[in-house]
Amino acid sequence: MADLASRITQPGVQASEPVAVEAEKPAEEASKLLENNYDVEVQLSDIQNNTDNPLGSVHTFDELGLPENVLKGLRALGFQKPSKVQEKALPLMLSDPPRNMIAQSQSGTGKTAAFVTTVLSRVDATKPSQPQALLLAPSRELARQIQTVIGQIGQFIPDLPVVAAIPGAIPRDTGRVDKSIVVGTPGTVSDLIKRRQFDVSQLRVLVIDEADNMLDQQGLGDQCTRVKKMLPKDVQVLLFSATFPEKVMKYATQFAPNANVIKLKTQELTVKGISQMYMDCPSEADKYDILCKLYGLMNVGSSIIFVKTRESASQIQQRMTNDGHKVSVLHGAYEGSERDALLEEFRSGRSKVLITTNVLARGIDVSTVSMVINYDIPMKGAGDRMHDTETYLHRIGRTGRFGRVGVSITFISDKKSYDALNAIAVDLGIDLVALAPDDWDETELQVQRIIKSSRAQAEFVPSG
Ligand code: ADP
Ligand code: MG
Repeated sequence: MADLASRITQPGVQASEPVAVEAEKPAEEASKLLENNYDVEVQLSDIQNNTDNPLGSVHTFDELGLPENVLKGLRALGFQKPSKVQEKALPLMLSDPPRNMIAQSQSGTGKTAAFVTTVLSRVDATKPSQPQALLLAPSRELARQIQTVIGQIGQFIPDLPVVAAIPGAIPRDTGRVDKSIVVGTPGTVSDLIKRRQFDVSQLRVLVIDEADNMLDQQGLGDQCTRVKKMLPKDVQVLLFSATFPEKVMKYATQFAPNANVIKLKTQELTVKGISQMYMDCPSEADKYDILCKLYGLMNVGSSIIFVKTRESASQIQQRMTNDGHKVSVLHGAYEGSERDALLEEFRSGRSKVLITTNVLARGIDVSTVSMVINYDIPMKGAGDRMHDTETYLHRIGRTGRFGRVGVSITFISDKKSYDALNAIAVDLGIDLVALAPDDWDETELQVQRIIKSSRAQAEFVPSG
């Protein structure tokens, strides 16, 4: 395999040098560590002052012309400065007459707050029971999360009218969607409109999060198109994602005509705070033991393990539980309310390991996640023959949120998975660090070194 390793470096060689930054640790430990690393400590404010960084900006929220009660909400969340996508997209989205927007920005850079702020600034508070804004997401978990963010940024808007339109939330036939802000999944929303439970005649804004996924996938794409056709012609369309493959971008520009477009270059796609590694497993059958070894050795905070099928998710959960690990599993076979409870358990830290499928690959924001494992490398297309660079990027993006650091470890076990990882690395123009399954001291050292740090020095150049 060595001949293919152009993009994959050997153990000990750090591709994008992670920096040990010690903050957000328990008090006494932190003080000791801060002392040791005093001169490399990087605060979010430092990162945000660097305008080349995706989190940096020259402006403040106060300059963006937002309503006072929305500004208050952002302040209450501790958002000191807008990120780059917020700084660039907000004035464009808020300008009158409204214009469509296609915005791409790396995972964990605050896209949600950008569109939520726009929605909150656009709805007419005097008509709280008239649907005015519709936000669509690919999973119930993401829809719920967006609903929560609306509640947080909108906490100073009296009786904030927001409702989720996800499976099971609104009684079939009898229920009505009677809140000005509606967050949902496309299938449920499309059903509600068709059954006339959801009056869309006054909708002003349509937000589609994870838009490339939402417009591309057979099922979701059809549903989104169907929903859009039922909306007023002049609705403002806002499309957001970390990835917009060429093919989808074409369709996106038809879906959101004459849009302002914010795009990333290929080399900007990866988040510098995420250290990408891979584990070369002798065979598929060895992957499970290696996974357990990894968890036996490491104290990693919260982590997510991505697998291909629901069955293998449940199997791994069973085996890890039997081996004494406390793990949760979440996938599409679970009931909606069960899924909500499982994710809540993970968010709160009561459960530290979450095993899941692609259903949670996108959007989920849990800042304590410091490690993502691709137990099965993401593949797509007929017979799963194509490597799936977008899903890879979204999965690893569950860590390294808003300037934090994280580790991703992708398991490979044969030529197919090795080739796929190599192709992903070429697509993204990145190097990955190899971890050896027979050198656990070194593996532990490498992973812990990164996880122990809390903010990435990503692209930060000290001024002094
Ligand atoms: P994305 O959708 O771009 O992947 P999110 O919208 O989920 O990212 O935001 C990631 C995290 O960053 C969230 O926890 C959010 O609270 C935080 N965040 C967003 N904007 C800011 C800001 N301006 N300042 C500080 N934190 C922010
Ligand atoms: Mg998001």
